[in-house]
Amino acid sequence: CGIVGYIGKRDVAPLLLEGLQRLEYRGYDSAGLVITSPKSNGLKMVKAKGRVRDLEARVPKRFTGTTGIAHTRWATHGAPSDHNSHPHLDPENKVAVVHNGIVDNAAELRAKLEADGVVFASETDTEVITHLIARSQADTLEEKVREALKVIEGTYGIAVMHADFNDRIVVARNGSPVILGIGEKEMLVASDVAALIAHTRQVVTLDDGEMATLKADDFRTYTVAGASTTATPETVEWEA
Ligand code: GLU
Repeated sequence: CGIVGYIGKRDVAPLLLEGLQRLEYRGYDSAGLVITSPKSNGLKMVKAKGRVRDLEARVPKRFTGTTGIAHTRWATHGAPSDHNSHPHLDPENKVAVVHNGIVDNAAELRAKLEADGVVFASETDTEVITHLIARSQADTLEEKVREALKVIEGTYGIAVMHADFNDRIVVARNGSPVILGIGEKEMLVASDVAALIAHTRQVVTLDDGEMATLKADDFRTYTVAGASTTATPETVEWEA
């Protein structure tokens, strides 16, 4: 239902929680976030059925990081629960995915992955995306995500983090909004401009079939097929 992501220098968990609160008006049944930092060698995740304040209550005292993605879920596949909340991680805790939309061929992809020995941690359609990315043999995160998206049918706005590529967030859009927020040595992403305007008014709206790589001081956009696209930031007018 709602996505917020950030990469930069600031303490990311409070920033993500505040962004999720700005998306609350859209409705949701659960929420979660995953964070990392350039120095850290892993992903740290918290998620909870219920309100953003229920999630906030679960965030440990020392939960520091400077890169993260967060989600409010409106369940379509799998009941609202802690384990069906996003992000969805692979068993090695390398790949984290938040997703808005519906993977139409999830049942078929899940059956194939399970036949290959993959053990699922949730009943969501989203989790197939996580496993497809985790199992890709491609060298770059962009290519791993691209391979996964080529076999997925349906709608998505996604944001992906990977413990082995922790200098970036990769995002993609097909039928579910993804908006980049361009800051000063920091980048944001959200499904709704409401979660961005406290931080920047410079935005890039992705088209369907488009992806982006966000780094703290740089971003680029390209198609799922791999061709570069030009992205000119626009200034959002917003009455506070
Ligand atoms: N289909 C996904 C799920 O049920 C995402 C739902 C959403 O857009 O929040 O987990």
